[in-house]
Amino acid sequence: MAKINENYLKLPGNYLFAEIGKRVAKFQAENPDAEIIRLGIGDVTQPLPKVCIDAMTKAALELGDAKTFRGYGPEQGYDFLREKISEWNYKKRGLEISAEEIFISDGSKCDCGNIQEIFSQDSKIAIADPVYPVYLDTNVMAGRTGNLKSDGRFENVIYLPCTAENNFSPAPPTEKVDLIYLCSPNNPTGTTLDKKILSDWVACAKENNSVILYDAAYAAYITEKNIPRSIYEIEGAKDVAIEFRSFSKTAGFTGTRCGYVVIPENLTGTTSSGEKILLKNLWLRRQTTKFNGTAYIVQRGAEAIYSDEGQAQVKKLIDYYMTNAKIIREGLAKIGLTAYGGVNAPYIWLKTPDNMPSWKFFDKLLNEANVVGTPGAGFGPCGENYFRLTSFGSYENTVEAVERIVK
Ligand code: PLP
Repeated sequence: MAKINENYLKLPGNYLFAEIGKRVAKFQAENPDAEIIRLGIGDVTQPLPKVCIDAMTKAALELGDAKTFRGYGPEQGYDFLREKISEWNYKKRGLEISAEEIFISDGSKCDCGNIQEIFSQDSKIAIADPVYPVYLDTNVMAGRTGNLKSDGRFENVIYLPCTAENNFSPAPPTEKVDLIYLCSPNNPTGTTLDKKILSDWVACAKENNSVILYDAAYAAYITEKNIPRSIYEIEGAKDVAIEFRSFSKTAGFTGTRCGYVVIPENLTGTTSSGEKILLKNLWLRRQTTKFNGTAYIVQRGAEAIYSDEGQAQVKKLIDYYMTNAKIIREGLAKIGLTAYGGVNAPYIWLKTPDNMPSWKFFDKLLNEANVVGTPGAGFGPCGENYFRLTSFGSYENTVEAVERIVK
């Protein structure tokens, strides 16, 4: 008898974006003339930078010639990309992260979801709330969370509320945890964690021998100088933190697929008998067994952003989306709606008027303005009464959507 992994049955019903899709399709069928603008799913809309296209074209031609053809690449990524990341994202910023500490992947979703495999089944996890759902769901699937309670929280998870009251910056909990998922800039709140709060987390992780899983997929969107782009800007973080980064939102690679995880050389976990084991060795073992590397063409495309020209093109792309973010923020402010984010992130997190439930607000916006956003409740219990708008639409659609909302 093929018994299933029953942990999957603990996951709450509909996947957020599937439910949104269903409601939008129903509305469109009933209102065929409505021109719906989608500021919901966090996918980008603008084309890849030219440097990436040129590099990928060249790489494709290399594969078309027996002399330069390449088959399976290294599971941890080609050195040319690992070295450029080390140099441009870390060493140029005064951070000692070597190429050997960088593991290339086909995107951060897989890395954030797979990393839990190298930790013990009985690890106690703490997760920001609201946040990108992958951290929680993958731990549910792995059987680490217990059951879902009637308040929408899982039994064995420590939720770290991110609310307007704490400036969306959760402090370390009083109880001990083993794994801590933090996301900055945060999806969905669009807010960031500053040096002080990150230092508190690093200190807490050191004290308890825990590991911080730090998702910085939106680091390239940070505009304010004093906000850390990497957790390794915090002293001692290399002893306690793994960092995730992605080319998806930085360079439009959501469909092209490339990301990476940084596992510092000396970062360890502990066996039940107290022996220290290097986490990077476990991850390499996992990847060499279950992953066969990111496409050569894609890695060449990603490498291309690490030049002065590449950086200028990436900046232009990010500036485009951040102009949209400003338009959304200012439009919402004009009609007296409270909103957060949109300064160091492509997400705007708005408080629903009169504490309206977030799915009700979703329907209202869809029906009255034909604009699609994402209900905050889909990102965790503390997301209720909030709503996420993204700046990843085209400029024209963003202007039009804001005009409709204001009306
Ligand atoms: N981390 C966060 C916080 C995200 O919002 C996303 C995508 O939306 C990802 C990771 C996944 O990115 P990727 O496209 O690299 O898988």
